[in-house]
Amino acid sequence: MNYDVINPATEQLVESIEMNDEDCANAAIERAAAVYPRWRAVSHADRARLLRRFAERVDAEVENLAALEVREAGHTISNARGEAQNVRDVLHYFAGAIERHLGDQIPVDGGIDITFHEPLGVVGIIVPWNFPMPIAGWGFAPALAAGNTVVLKPAELTPLTAIRLAALAHEAGIPPDVFQVLPGKGSIVGQAFVDHPKIAKIVFTGSSAVGKQIMAGAANTMKRITLELGGKSANIIFDDADLERAAATAPYGVFDNAGQDCCARSRLLVQRSVMDKFMTLLEPAVQGVKVGAPGYESTEMGPLISAQQRKRVASFLDDSVDIAFTGTIPAGAGYWFKPTVVLAKTAQDRVMTEEIFGPVVTVFPFDDEAEAIALANDSIYGLSGSIWTENIGRGLRVARGVEAGALSLNSHSAVRYNTPFGGFKQSGIGRELGPHALASFTETKNLFIATS
Ligand code: NAP
Ligand code: MG
Repeated sequence: MNYDVINPATEQLVESIEMNDEDCANAAIERAAAVYPRWRAVSHADRARLLRRFAERVDAEVENLAALEVREAGHTISNARGEAQNVRDVLHYFAGAIERHLGDQIPVDGGIDITFHEPLGVVGIIVPWNFPMPIAGWGFAPALAAGNTVVLKPAELTPLTAIRLAALAHEAGIPPDVFQVLPGKGSIVGQAFVDHPKIAKIVFTGSSAVGKQIMAGAANTMKRITLELGGKSANIIFDDADLERAAATAPYGVFDNAGQDCCARSRLLVQRSVMDKFMTLLEPAVQGVKVGAPGYESTEMGPLISAQQRKRVASFLDDSVDIAFTGTIPAGAGYWFKPTVVLAKTAQDRVMTEEIFGPVVTVFPFDDEAEAIALANDSIYGLSGSIWTENIGRGLRVARGVEAGALSLNSHSAVRYNTPFGGFKQSGIGRELGPHALASFTETKNLFIATS
């Protein structure tokens, strides 16, 4: 069976891709399991060298990969370029990290006690369509570095960059069965990963609903899991913030990638005393977001990924929702959606509680610091968030009070490859990236050596 990849900015066919069925997926997992003993036996230095060579191949193809992502996902060219470069940087980071993945030597009586970090086996990575390249890399780079073999399922909508990345890995000398990309349906190939006893770990990014199914399914064979799920992150604006900067940057904290970002700051909590002033500053900032053909260098926001996603996003804006103002979109083909600012009536409104995954931000007032923290935490999610205040003590207090894994003070910092990323509560389990990520791609083995 084939799947037609559609360009979301033009609604035209990009390429038709052959999908794997369950038998293909199972055969691929068996091959990954068969080659695992040989891959884990490759020395750390040689594995690092192969990953660096892979990184160099990616670097040489940044423009190609970026152009593919513009076509299959409608990402702006500047974002897409950064996403390809992120894969390169993540490969270099874990190539360096694996040679520094130190064990312990623990003082004990009667001998010597040491720990080893052993690879897990075959790691199954399931990737969503919103950031196809980086999210794939955050899984495969540490997994391969640590000595695991990898099977990776891209999202049906966006398989092309993952397929190209696998080819680059193989050109760099990583054996084909060590890193396999398997386009296919979540319910078939993804499910095969969850069910197969030879998969040791699942790395999943996507919806909380599927994340819960994967967690339940993984229990059968006690698979390790890392889950990066949804978010409804808060952007908290205090009255002592640099309001001009906060308002100028707020649209980019939520409308980047057309809001299809698990870190989108989609709840804008504003101290009541500065609400009017802030909204006056926000309106021109939202109207200034350049929405259009994603291949143009100056474009800041492209289309949504699919007609279905546009329908889903639109379903949040029924007659009961109070729209404050919107930005503009191009006419013609493409799954465009206006950057939209809505006002919630209560903290329980659907636009305040559910992940919309489109360019919609909900504004809600608060009176004091305690209420700001309580509102930010009034969510099943806890992924990211921003705090704007010139009072550093308040900034730190609020940052410590907000239940979320990746916060920024006076910025909307993107995910960095050298710092941990992941969610509290139903935003997920585990952390990717940063200095500790290899721990979740290895088991700790303790060895006691008797000396007497
Ligand atoms: P999804 O269903 O969770 O898809 C994510 C990945 O999981 C895709 O590769 C998908 O394959 C696969 N998958 C689906 N069902 C599976 C199953 N039963 N077993 C194993 N893998 C499975 O997300 P979606 O349907 O694309 O998007 C729906 C909503 O999820 C969005 O509107 C958004 O709210 C949220 N979302 C969040 C993130 C995030 O980064 N946190 C990313 C994407 C979506 P297919 O491609 O075949 O579906
Ligand atoms: Mg789905």
